[in-house]
Amino acid sequence: MRQGKVTINRERCKACYLCAESCPFKVLEPDTAMNSSGVYPVKFAKAEKCTACASCYRMCPDTVLTVYELEAGDAERGEK
Ligand code: SF4
Ligand code: SF4
Repeated sequence: MRQGKVTINRERCKACYLCAESCPFKVLEPDTAMNSSGVYPVKFAKAEKCTACASCYRMCPDTVLTVYELEAGDAERGEK
């Protein structure tokens, strides 16, 4: 199965969670720490389940997310 990685610009996230709702594998969850705007940004919580489908990226109205497709072996080398 293809393995993905999502990075999040925490300061730009508005915590609408449209991305989390769109994820077929429920990878994204609200963070437990606030950003400087006083909201709980989304967090890449279940990394091992991400397939780099980019559904979350397409849903975000503010391009807060970046999706990467990992090469075989990246996770084992600690590069995810
Ligand atoms: S890329 Fe796909 S699987 Fe990964 S967090 Fe986004 S919606 Fe979920
Ligand atoms: S859709 Fe964008 S703004 Fe909304 S929670 Fe996700 S990353 Fe944050």
